[in-house]
Amino acid sequence: MKPHLDYDIAIIGGGVIGLSIAISLQQAGKTVVIIDRDDELINASRKNAGAFAFADIVPLATPHIIKSAPKWFLDPEGPLYIHPAYLLTIFPWMVRFWRASWNNMFTRLLEAQAGLMALSREALERQVKDLNAEFLLYRKGQLRLYEQKRNFDRSSILWDACSRYNIQHTLFNSVEEINEIQPGLSPKYRYAGFTPDWINVSDPNIWVQYIKDIYIDQGGKWLANSAKIIAPNENDVLIKMQESAVSASFCIVAAGAWSQKLASSMGDKIPLDTERGYNITLKNTGLDLRTHLTFAEHGFVVSMINQGIRVGGAVEFAGLMRPPNFDRADALLKKAKKILPGLANSFSHDKWMGFRPSLPDSLPIVDYSTKSKRVLYAFGHGHLGLTQAAGTAELIRDLIIGKRPEINISAFSAKRF
Ligand SMILES: Cc1cc2nc3c(=O)[nH]c(=O)nc-3n(C[C@H](O)[C@H](O)[C@H](O)COP(=O)(O)OP(=O)(O)OC[C@H]3O[C@@H](n4cnc5c(N)ncnc54)[C@H](O)[C@@H]3O)c2cc1C
Repeated sequence: MKPHLDYDIAIIGGGVIGLSIAISLQQAGKTVVIIDRDDELINASRKNAGAFAFADIVPLATPHIIKSAPKWFLDPEGPLYIHPAYLLTIFPWMVRFWRASWNNMFTRLLEAQAGLMALSREALERQVKDLNAEFLLYRKGQLRLYEQKRNFDRSSILWDACSRYNIQHTLFNSVEEINEIQPGLSPKYRYAGFTPDWINVSDPNIWVQYIKDIYIDQGGKWLANSAKIIAPNENDVLIKMQESAVSASFCIVAAGAWSQKLASSMGDKIPLDTERGYNITLKNTGLDLRTHLTFAEHGFVVSMINQGIRVGGAVEFAGLMRPPNFDRADALLKKAKKILPGLANSFSHDKWMGFRPSLPDSLPIVDYSTKSKRVLYAFGHGHLGLTQAAGTAELIRDLIIGKRPEINISAFSAKRF
């Protein structure tokens, strides 16, 4: 098989991670091709909740989650569900997840996550300036709400971490204080934390398309194809597709939840799985949403998308192949209507399921393959791919151009499992 094109960089995957890396490398003077099977429906980046969730620095495997999770598993409409046929497959991932909650491990993961978040926050501002993209953002903060005092008290793990890593936040203990930020909530919600530096995109689909259009305008190539095998040599790397191939000096795997197969074609065993998530987008709701709302006890968020309202969340372990169960999206809406009476008469615009690319320790891989320095990995961002895209892009760019990355990347290593 002969390569029919030559580039400095070939990126497999044109979601928000692949595209952000592509733009960053173009700025460094590299020629770039993105290979993407172009299935926008399953791409996680286009329909997520649209939050740059810079306050979410606490890894998912907290000691509290480990205690609560078993009762959630049994409720098909609860925030966390494992499909019975997927139990055996996900078991080793779950063991690693549990280990990530151990004290010393948790502290290390938190520090790494906070470092990547701080970089990503600054990198996003650079990206917004370079791409002239401020008009696509809402800067209205996030209100994280709690019904039960007990759960609010437990959330101190987050607020303490925010204090330690200089993330602005204010805690509220009364309906009046909460109402000042977001009126119209059920008065059951008496406890909250407000994080003013949280940012949202007006629509993740428009955000990704905007970056893609700039990438193409700057001479970037988009190859609508599925990459099958990555074959590195000493001086270049060949990416094989069904009937063709591309050669480049470096290949970056940014194929979201589908990256595991590509890494294993390199000989790297990575415990990547998918946390499937759901959302439902509503139009003409009549709800005056003033900030991004997070209902941590119920595992869902409410955000403003393109003048509509998106209610989304839930975690479902069921792999990449099983069809969606949209009852979960309906269940999220039912819960949201109870809390936000303003949503009562709204009609559903569309329902969506997406595949979060998740590693059990809540950190992505941003590193070389263990087998070749010509192949790099940028995947596994889980719930935070939009948030960490600009930071990840700067790290990968620095590795490619031989500059020391701005933060220590050892926690994001491909060897850590
Ligand atoms: C319900 C939900 C809500 C979310 N909300 C947020 C949020 O508010 N904030 C946030 O930061 N994150 C959020 N996330 C997570 C975020 O969407 C993901 O972390 C992020 O989109 C991952 O981006 P990616 O580029 O790695 O993967 P993707 O967007 O999935 O892109 C991967 C691309 O690779 C392509 N591909 C795969 N295999 C191949 C192959 N072999 N050859 C060629 N192409 C291939 C696919 O077609 C796809 O286009 C949410 C996720 C879900 C499901």
